[in-house]
Amino acid sequence: MESNYNTGFPKVVIVGAGFGGIELAKALNKKEVDVLLIDKHNYHTFQPLMYQVATGSLEADSIAFSVRKNFEGQRNFRFRIAELKKINTAKNSIETSIGEIEYDYLVIATGSTNNFFGNKEFEKYTLPMKSIPEALNLRSAVLQNLETALLLSTPEEREPYLTFVLVGAGPTGAELAGSIAEIRNFILSKDYPELHKEEMKVYLVDALPKVLANMSEQASKKAQQFLEDMNVEVLTNVKVQTYDGTVISFEGGREIKTKNVIWSAGVMGVVPEGFSKEQIAKGNRISTDEINRVIGLNNVFSIGDVSSSVTEAMPKGLPGVAPVAIQQGKHLAKNILHIIKGEPTVNFKYNDQGSMATIGRNKAVVDMGKIL
Ligand SMILES: Cc1cc2nc3c(=O)[nH]c(=O)nc-3n(C[C@H](O)[C@H](O)[C@H](O)COP(=O)(O)OP(=O)(O)OC[C@H]3O[C@@H](n4cnc5c(N)ncnc54)[C@H](O)[C@@H]3O)c2cc1C
Repeated sequence: MESNYNTGFPKVVIVGAGFGGIELAKALNKKEVDVLLIDKHNYHTFQPLMYQVATGSLEADSIAFSVRKNFEGQRNFRFRIAELKKINTAKNSIETSIGEIEYDYLVIATGSTNNFFGNKEFEKYTLPMKSIPEALNLRSAVLQNLETALLLSTPEEREPYLTFVLVGAGPTGAELAGSIAEIRNFILSKDYPELHKEEMKVYLVDALPKVLANMSEQASKKAQQFLEDMNVEVLTNVKVQTYDGTVISFEGGREIKTKNVIWSAGVMGVVPEGFSKEQIAKGNRISTDEINRVIGLNNVFSIGDVSSSVTEAMPKGLPGVAPVAIQQGKHLAKNILHIIKGEPTVNFKYNDQGSMATIGRNKAVVDMGKIL
């Protein structure tokens, strides 16, 4: 049982071997703390390249990295495969799939998951892409539908199998739309010579007025142009309404027949049981202060996608991207050590180094951040 391990140093328990959790655990190397990292998987997922796994240009093991290997030689570090179920702040312990674990300092870095905004139909019938199993599932569904199309004799019958609708034109939707368009433009005629590429349609849909809404106007326009050049039909200001597995309908009445609806319209924090309502912010994220400490708690912290990070200095919070999680992980390590030594803490400040979205194999849009 993990709660028995004890070297006399304060125990820092980190939940989640994502970008934030890994960076934090590494930054505590050679410090006078015991680090226990738990994750429900024994691998770290490099999510930015997931769309390439979904579209077959990378294998899953190219984006999954062994957690243990990452920490070879770090003597104050342990890893356990375990799923966090509930936190018990009164007892300074967590309930997990391998039993109860005690902590002196707890860091929740559990990331985010798909948000279907309560729509059961979309949850049931669409294909999300937030984990490696989901990416592989998506890949297999796409290939299976192309195989099915081969067996059908009329264009009308083939239409739903050869039509791809991506809901959500953020980086995930835009990058995936580009990759699927490349399958049509470059692979279809080679691998499926009986299918006509003109019959394969790719739509990218968003309720907002532009693609890549979090990027600059220029990047957004350029990305849309790249996508349209690749024959992706971009539908902005369009809200999806229903989907029964074969027909997707939009506000205003338009319908598209498709067996391939890919959901990239939103994410929400993965929050364990045990927090109060006041500790949960918009997007199911954990409310934290300027040092990533959970509101109302002394020794519980949250970083990365699951942390809301809304403060006076950052009223809109921070984007759910890897650099935020990485920087918060590094910074929190320093603050935990300050707290242990009774020293003043330092507020977290995000250094935005810019963002990029790749459209197809050889095009990308970039917003440059501050160059230090
Ligand atoms: C398809 C896709 C593409 C992306 N592209 C980019 C990009 O190009 N650039 C960019 O900066 N960001 C990108 N992001 C966002 C980026 O991946 C996230 O912001 C980043 O992973 C957040 O890091 P994190 O440490 O908060 O959580 P994650 O990296 O998501 O890690 C969370 C970890 O917690 C574990 N976990 C969850 N629940 C539990 C539990 N109950 N018990 C135990 N373990 C648990 C999970 O298994 C996971 O390992 C992309 C995301 C996706 C989905």
